[in-house]
Amino acid sequence: MRSSFFVRLVNDPFGDPALYVRVAHRREALLFDCGDLHALPARDLLKIRAVFVSHAHIDHLAGFDHLLRTFLYRRQPLLVHGPPGLGERIGHRLAAYTWNLIDGYPLSIEVREWAADGAGQARCFRASRAFRPEAPRFFACPAGLLHETTHYRVRAVSLEHGDIPCLAFALEEKLHVAIHRDALDRLGYPPGPWLSRFKDLVRADAPQDTPVQVARHDGTMVVRHLGELTAEIAHCEAGMKIVYVTDASPSPANAEQILRLAADAHLLAIEACFAEADQHLAAERNHLTAGLAGALGRRAGAKKLLVFHHSPRYQAQPRRLQDQAQAAFRGAGES
Ligand SMILES: [Zn+2]
Ligand SMILES: [Zn+2]
Repeated sequence: MRSSFFVRLVNDPFGDPALYVRVAHRREALLFDCGDLHALPARDLLKIRAVFVSHAHIDHLAGFDHLLRTFLYRRQPLLVHGPPGLGERIGHRLAAYTWNLIDGYPLSIEVREWAADGAGQARCFRASRAFRPEAPRFFACPAGLLHETTHYRVRAVSLEHGDIPCLAFALEEKLHVAIHRDALDRLGYPPGPWLSRFKDLVRADAPQDTPVQVARHDGTMVVRHLGELTAEIAHCEAGMKIVYVTDASPSPANAEQILRLAADAHLLAIEACFAEADQHLAAERNHLTAGLAGALGRRAGAKKLLVFHHSPRYQAQPRRLQDQAQAAFRGAGES
């Protein structure tokens, strides 16, 4: 399957958590956690449409000001999702600055808080109103659904992280429309923006006789019916799934939630904070060990494992946690 999402850690595994996910062919990106973001160039930052914050510990949220600084002149609203109470925290961050000269700025920030009962609270902050919080409104987030486009959705579950909740997220492509490149060559249809429009129509389950304009190699346009075109150049399969898990106590309840969320994921990005020999520290500090992270990925049937959020105590052995996690993921036991 061709990737619909291109995933990268913003920092090395010892740095602050932040996972940048670019959506293929869409000039848009999503950000999971918002630690130090200085390693991201402005052109990448500006693609971010929505941010998903697991919890408000400083290593997961310290990059918010950097994001705000870069976005101040942007027309596109910024969506920030996170656990209950995040709206108030973001409100405090915004209130910490002086905003008397930004009346004409278009930026708005909407903070949407996940809720266990499916009734989330959203709060909007507009530059034109000096980022004063507007009255909260409620939005439906059934079964943890926080964000949905025609193309993908993001769901959250709440994990225990000591005595606070920490959200884990699943990004799911709704339907993967695979294009047969050889058919495009044969028909003389070069890839281009028309192909994204075609895929959107397929995903939206548009009527088979919907006309689709196709730009040909020689610059002429041809109009085809969606059904015919689909049969000739594409097939559909289950979409990609990327799961992000961090700052979770090593408890059976968390393991069960993670296994459900990460079932059959194409990629599980998961914290690996402590080594197996330091399980007592993992329990005390409410984090996962590398071995547990790998074992959860294996049991969930994830295809790939990406680990991050290493404790600085292992800096002298930079591969130790990676190796332990990947060994457990392969079922090879501890190393
Ligand atoms: Zn953390
Ligand atoms: Zn934490």
